[in-house]
Amino acid sequence: MPAQPLRRCSYPNCRNRVKSGRCEEHKPKDTRESSSKRGYDQKWRKYRTEYLKHNPLCVMCLEKGKYTPATVIDHIQPVENGQADPRFWDINNHQPLCRDCHSYKTRIIDKRGYGAKK
Ligand SMILES: [Zn+2]
Ligand SMILES: [Zn+2]
Repeated sequence: MPAQPLRRCSYPNCRNRVKSGRCEEHKPKDTRESSSKRGYDQKWRKYRTEYLKHNPLCVMCLEKGKYTPATVIDHIQPVENGQADPRFWDINNHQPLCRDCHSYKTRIIDKRGYGAKK
């Protein structure tokens, strides 16, 4: 059978070939730019330090009976526009997580969408 024809990435002036849509670099969902561009700036880092002082343990590990120091503040409901999103600074939308749980959550749980669940 013939190889799948590749097209140009739909990003302006990008010459990468893709099966459809955009190349890895220009995928709209994967804007893993610098973290400050996504809203995690100085103010956030300061807030995080303070927050983790008061919430030092990863809550997902805690559920499993493990005590792991939290290193990140997770947005329970993922925010998409950084600080422009009202949920970004909503303390009820924050939870302390360790790095492992955070990447697990963003990979598995946020992808599924939060919606109905609890
Ligand atoms: Zn591209
Ligand atoms: Zn954890």
